[in-house]
Amino acid sequence: MEILKERILKEASVINAGVLKLDSLLNHSVDPQLTMEMGKEFALRFAGEPITKVITVESSGIPVAFATALQLGVPLVFARRKKTLIGESDAYCERVPSFTKGIVTDLIVSRHLLSENDTVLFIDDIIANGDAARGLIKIIEQSGAKLNGIGIVIEKSFQAGGKALRELGYRVETLVKIQSLENNTITFED
Ligand code: 5GP
Repeated sequence: MEILKERILKEASVINAGVLKLDSLLNHSVDPQLTMEMGKEFALRFAGEPITKVITVESSGIPVAFATALQLGVPLVFARRKKTLIGESDAYCERVPSFTKGIVTDLIVSRHLLSENDTVLFIDDIIANGDAARGLIKIIEQSGAKLNGIGIVIEKSFQAGGKALRELGYRVETLVKIQSLENNTITFED
């Protein structure tokens, strides 16, 4: 997605060789018009698939997942990151490492929000090692729902997440692939 590449070059900054700061586009602020374009692109790529729900992880995945769900005409479910130690008997729960925070967090989804009758599209902002995605996939599996595919705004293809999910057989669509952040420079794939 060329417009997204231009905006990344203009607005993102390289924190280190593994991490990109994207506050104005994805993580701390939302451009509604650009976000709607991302949603349209995902909806186009997954058009014709029997998707009943879009699912994401709070908080940075929500805007683009919402835009995708709106285009597909289906509800959006977002996994919450649990902040208490109190058990949630009526929820699916998976513990995942957080790439940016360096801690583990629990992803939770209430059982009544996903069922075996659902075919879901997982949308997220960035993929690095794929831990958040794998956690959410486990939740989807526990619910009996089918995972139709995965749409990620930015894939850092020098990290293992996207490749690992494709090797597991999932369809992974990404809007932009970044192959390197070495030397303080953003280098796109293709
Ligand atoms: P993963 O679980 O794939 O290792 O990391 C995915 C999550 O970590 C994303 O949802 C995103 O919020 C965060 N993340 C991963 N890499 C980056 C990065 O380079 N910059 C920012 N801002 N967030 C990232």
